[in-house]
Amino acid sequence: MTDEDYMELALAEAMKAEQLGEVPIGAILVYQDQVVARAFNLRETLQTTASHAEMLVIDKGNEKISSWRLENCTLYVTLEPCPMCAGAILQARIPRVVFGAYDPKSGCAGSIINILENHHFNHQVDLRGGVLNEACSQLLKGFFKKLREEKKLSKSSH
Ligand SMILES: [Zn+2]
Repeated sequence: MTDEDYMELALAEAMKAEQLGEVPIGAILVYQDQVVARAFNLRETLQTTASHAEMLVIDKGNEKISSWRLENCTLYVTLEPCPMCAGAILQARIPRVVFGAYDPKSGCAGSIINILENHHFNHQVDLRGGVLNEACSQLLKGFFKKLREEKKLSKSSH
C-alpha cells in the first residue's frame, strides 16, 4: 500500500462524515502495515470540541495497541492538522504523518506554523503533505458550497 492508497481510505472516512452533515475530514492509523483505526470528524454529532478525526483515531489506536505511545504508526488525515491535533500527535509520539489538503486557516503542519517539525519540542514528525490534495480539498469545498446554498435556500423561503 502506498501513501495514496491509505489516503483513499481516509477519504472514505471523510465521506462518512459528510453523510452525517459533518465537515468531511477522515483519518486512518496504520501500524506495521495494517490499518488499526479509522475515524472521521464528529464534532456536530457529539457536540464536543475535541472530536476531530485525528483525536478520535488516536483514541482508537491507543485502545487497539494498548498504549498511549503510538510508535511505529503513521497517521493519515485528509486535512492538515489543527493546533489541537498537532499537539496530540506529538503527545502520542506518532513518528509519521501524511495529510491531504492544506489548511491556511488553522493548519499547524506548515501553513500557519509547523508544530510537527519543530526541533524545540521533544518529538518531531516525519511529515508529508499534499497527498491526494485535489480530492481532499474538493470534498471540503463541495461540502461548504452546498452548505452555503442550503442557507440561501432556507433564507429565501422565509
Ligand atoms: Zn484538529
